[in-house]
Amino acid sequence: MANRILIIEDEEKIARFVELELKHEGNEVEKAFDGREGLEKALSGYFDLILLDVMLPGLNGLEVLRRLRLEKDTPVIMLTARDAVMDKVSGLDAGADDYITKPFAIEELLARIRVALKKRGPVAPLVTHSLAIKGVTLDQDRYEVKVNGEPVELTNREFELLRMLMKNKNIVLDREKLMNEVCGYDYIGETNIIDVYIRYLRTKIDDRYGIKLIHTVRGVGYVIKE
Ligand code: CA
Repeated sequence: MANRILIIEDEEKIARFVELELKHEGNEVEKAFDGREGLEKALSGYFDLILLDVMLPGLNGLEVLRRLRLEKDTPVIMLTARDAVMDKVSGLDAGADDYITKPFAIEELLARIRVALKKRGPVAPLVTHSLAIKGVTLDQDRYEVKVNGEPVELTNREFELLRMLMKNKNIVLDREKLMNEVCGYDYIGETNIIDVYIRYLRTKIDDRYGIKLIHTVRGVGYVIKE
């Protein structure tokens, strides 16, 4: 093994121990001690594999995984507490490759890492593409939106909302689905927050450039038609 591995684990003792073992096997290792820092590192750097604890301060492991999967398919092994069956199921549903229950034997972890890396094959390609509809282009790598080549400034949530709609063009998405994707599953609030962001997007794109991009489907949600 000689891979770049990111450990996202708030229990520093565990993180250090695993780091030493992985380095001993010839890997490069980075650590993050909370969810936000971990997500930031996972998104901004290249890693062959991520070890992700579920119970983390800041953002929990499942939320980190959910957000990571919008961008990258880096193999992820979740570290879960004993008997936390829900965490395992949710983790696998959210796109984890495997999980290991704490406390674990280091040999078992190393074996699972080898399996996860082999399954993915050599260097998993990053998601690198931009979406384009009706003169609107959205670059998922640079977080840039342009209309007829002219940059449009969007907030993060406006960007995520537009990306969801463009990725699912011609499919009507309801407010709840959009809210989960844009605000996160742990967001507690009214789904009409989506109507507010849609209004901002229309002001910045539809109205400003005189195009009919976002359509309302009454009683359901929104759709971008090609
Ligand atoms: Ca923890």
